[in-house]
Amino acid sequence: MTFHALGLIDPLLRTLDALGYKQPTPVQKQAIPAVLAGRDVMAAAQTGTGKTAGFALPILQRLTMDGATAPLCIRALVLVPTRELAEQVYESFRSYGGNLPLRSAVAYGGVPIDPQIAKLRKGLDVLVATPGRLIDLHDQGVISFELLQTLVLDEADRMLDLGFERDLDILLEALPKQRQTLMFSATFSDQIRKLANGMLKDPVAIQVAAANTATKSVKQWLIPTDKRRKPELFLHLLNKLGWIQALVFVKTRKGAEALVKTLLEHGVSADAIHGDKTQPARLRALDRFKRKEVRLLIATDVAARGLDIEALPQVVNFDLPSVAEDYIHRIGRTGRAGMAGEAISLVCADEVDMLRAIETLTRQAIPRCEEPGFEADHRVPETAARGVAAPARKGPAANAIKAAKTAKRPAGAPPMAKAPAVAKTAARPAGGSESLGVYTPPEKPAKSAPRERAPAKEAAAPRRAFAPGGGSRGPAAPKGAVVVTNGRGAKSQARTEGRAAAKPAGRKSRSGPR
Ligand code: AMP
Repeated sequence: MTFHALGLIDPLLRTLDALGYKQPTPVQKQAIPAVLAGRDVMAAAQTGTGKTAGFALPILQRLTMDGATAPLCIRALVLVPTRELAEQVYESFRSYGGNLPLRSAVAYGGVPIDPQIAKLRKGLDVLVATPGRLIDLHDQGVISFELLQTLVLDEADRMLDLGFERDLDILLEALPKQRQTLMFSATFSDQIRKLANGMLKDPVAIQVAAANTATKSVKQWLIPTDKRRKPELFLHLLNKLGWIQALVFVKTRKGAEALVKTLLEHGVSADAIHGDKTQPARLRALDRFKRKEVRLLIATDVAARGLDIEALPQVVNFDLPSVAEDYIHRIGRTGRAGMAGEAISLVCADEVDMLRAIETLTRQAIPRCEEPGFEADHRVPETAARGVAAPARKGPAANAIKAAKTAKRPAGAPPMAKAPAVAKTAARPAGGSESLGVYTPPEKPAKSAPRERAPAKEAAAPRRAFAPGGGSRGPAAPKGAVVVTNGRGAKSQARTEGRAAAKPAGRKSRSGPR
């Protein structure tokens, strides 16, 4: 199958050729014809599958073939949960649309507003935006959705995780009802299905990898150890396994800074990317890592969302994430576009509940390899992916040995001292269809009934997560960025104040240090 066979026009084919894309990925094979045909799409596609080109290429083609924009108007809108993903998706549009006469821009918070407004004044074909900033622009009356023909919700699961449900409701009210809608999500929950059912009309369902299944091309294993010994173990592994570059995930901003300090003290080049850093500082750290000026990039989950680092071979979970889905997103940073990758997790006894949650979600027990000299004093209890048929009590050791024999040992892994507790089976986890499965469109396209508004408290988290510097005027935005900070409209101001007054509750703490 070639891109030509998918019906893409010449300027796009030339760009793909220049980029070295030989053939479409599975998600592209399915999404491109559907989007070109004007259909709504619900795709269960992980990051690294080529999903961005899956929607960007046909959108660019449709925009080129049909119509033109007007002052203040946008014709395609891509909503993303984080600034980093916004930058990445925007870059993709710029790159894929390099031979086309289209205008695109990106809008997110924490950078000046005026360049953004100036771009919108002339009108845009594509705007990539985070929800909060887009609402600000809309409240200020500097954007019109009158000509909007396509809406993309990228990483919809993440959007809900970050508490954007209410912002999405506000935006959906403002967007034209007659439009094409594409929704991409790495994982599925009832909440995502509900959102999809309310937004999509007779969608084409695309499933390129089992939902909630970690990227197959990534070898995963974990090393049980004590919490206090993690830095020492990390340095030991760095030397022993000779990682050229690695993306390292930690739970907190403080943890990120502490690890960078330790590494620098040991003469290892490292930089951190987390919510306390300004956007330009984050981009600079990412850039240095991409240019291989630093060996290790230490990241928290929110900050790392959407990072696309070419051919990254190694991900290390210095801490397990506190939300199981983040594990899938983290390891999706490696093994991209079918390349081999490796994800190692350092796990201490405190993290066993998280480990259980991850194994339940991914339907697999992560192979354990003890590192001699770093064995845990506080034993990390054995885990069994929930819902997987538990091994008969009389013979757990036999099962464990069998599992250990069948599990492929990653290259360079230390000798496997302890077998995974339970072999991978096809059984569904206890969460059943609530946490797993293929998207099934509703029998009838959902009517545009008024949506239930999420309580204001739900929306508090993203503001804090995305405006570490208080959202005041910061350094210049990257080229092409549309930026708004001060001078917010009265409505948005009131909304934010309402949020601030509402005490976040009822949601797992997503707003902690990240
Ligand atoms: P995404 O899942 O959209 O984040 O894309 C993951 C990576 O795959 C990006 O670096 C893309 O440039 C790359 N990519 C996307 N489509 C293709 C393709 N058909 N052939 C080769 N690389 C691709």
